[in-house]
Amino acid sequence: MPRNRRNRAGRAGLIFGDLWEFDPAPETADPKLKPRYGLFINGSFVRPRTGRHFDSVNPANERKLAEIALAGPADVDAAYQAASRAFRGWSALPGRERGKYLFRIARLLQDRAREFAVAETMDGGKPIRESRDFDVPMAAAHFFYHAGWADKLEYVAPGRRAAPLGVVGQVIPWNFPLLMLAWKLGPALAMGNCVVLKPAETTSITALKLAEILQDAELPPGVVNFVTGAGETGALVMGHPSAAKVAFTGSTEVGKAIMRQLAGTDRRMTMELGGKAANIVFDDAPIDQAVEGIVNGIFFNQGHVCCAGSRLLVHEPVAERVVSKLKNRIRVLRVGDPLDKNTDLGAINSRAQLDKITRLVASGVREGAVKFQPPCPLPEKGFYFPPTLFTKVTQSHRIAREEIFGPVLSILTFRTVDEAIEKANNTPYGLSAGVWTDKGSRILRMSTELKAGVVWANTFNKFDPSSPFGGYKESGFGREGGRQGLLDYARLE
Ligand code: NDP
Repeated sequence: MPRNRRNRAGRAGLIFGDLWEFDPAPETADPKLKPRYGLFINGSFVRPRTGRHFDSVNPANERKLAEIALAGPADVDAAYQAASRAFRGWSALPGRERGKYLFRIARLLQDRAREFAVAETMDGGKPIRESRDFDVPMAAAHFFYHAGWADKLEYVAPGRRAAPLGVVGQVIPWNFPLLMLAWKLGPALAMGNCVVLKPAETTSITALKLAEILQDAELPPGVVNFVTGAGETGALVMGHPSAAKVAFTGSTEVGKAIMRQLAGTDRRMTMELGGKAANIVFDDAPIDQAVEGIVNGIFFNQGHVCCAGSRLLVHEPVAERVVSKLKNRIRVLRVGDPLDKNTDLGAINSRAQLDKITRLVASGVREGAVKFQPPCPLPEKGFYFPPTLFTKVTQSHRIAREEIFGPVLSILTFRTVDEAIEKANNTPYGLSAGVWTDKGSRILRMSTELKAGVVWANTFNKFDPSSPFGGYKESGFGREGGRQGLLDYARLE
């Protein structure tokens, strides 16, 4: 509880900083993990033909959580064969029947929401507050939303028939493991496709737990198959000749490699890749609200967010005020045990990611930007990074150009609307942007001229299954969510 004290000037008031005292409030629900997980192929958990497993580690304390099967070429092939066999029956089901399965999956996920939230937090490091209030409910919402579409597919493209493509290969990253899985499965299944999906190596557990739900929902065997492993397994999933379409979410670098791998084939593709979003604050913005939006934009999920507002562009007349309020705000962010309900910033997902963030932050200092980190004790075990701001950043600095994918905000300033647009668009990425201003006309102009798939106005990081999400330029192509997301899994006849 905050203590109500007299400050130096003698006035009674709330004193922030280290005088906020919270008792630990650890989440204690059992995540119900198995010591070892097989591959989920043709409706059952099976041993990998490679005979190999790897460890999934809790990044908050570096303890092993479970052993995960490593899929090789024969396993990926078996998954595609199962999906191809299942396709005929699944695609022939009336949409309302497919919808029933999706509803069941959504309801079963809701029933086990707490258990899934704990598993997601232990596997990935994100604060339990986020997995409990965002990841799991949003994943269920995506299944509900697409369940609703399954019997209304004639409205996806009026006047045309939307038919499924066949077997779809999907690869997802580690930052929103369950949510990315729901984004991928929902539209593919509603449309009548079957799936072979690979989760990220460091965060496979909630996919494998969802496989239990698919079994409980009595989803026909082979409609969904999960093959686990690292990048090599991903390349096998993307390159398999039976895939009618591949859908990838991950880094721009790997996205390009996949496109090179598939160049010359007739494979349909969607690519959801990296970003370096500008969050733009004008002098007429509601400053306190904007500060909350900036904090949410960059520190949500430790900044492991493709659409993170990692470049703050602030109007010069209010720059000093905004930076000072931001510094005060991040002084009270709590970094630590992700399972504690008071935690704002949990663990960085892996040692490799922590090293990458550390390297890029060092480059910011070397190149002349000014670093601010609040005093912030970090746990001794596990991978943690304090919330970090950089001022005096120029557009040529690496921290202004490269995706850091961590809790690091680069702050630049601007004087005119044109300069803000120019700077915001000065990036190879085009995934998202934010605008904070009181003027509706300025919001309209900015949202037209900003080269980003999503532009938030006076808010940030807001998602809804009915709202298509995706990028352009090097942030990829294709959409997830909404009618547009369904169209990416359909052949129009
Ligand atoms: P990576 O590109 O490194 O990995 C993404 C997935 O691809 C993982 O499952 C990975 O496996 C797999 N993979 C790695 N190499 C290959 C390959 N050659 N062929 C096929 N698959 C491969 O990204 P991260 O996991 O590090 O995720 C972070 C990135 O994802 C960021 O750039 C972020 O912006 C982006 N992202 C984009 C989103 C969007 O909607 N646009 C949403 C979320 C994240 P493994 O993990 O086992 O190595």
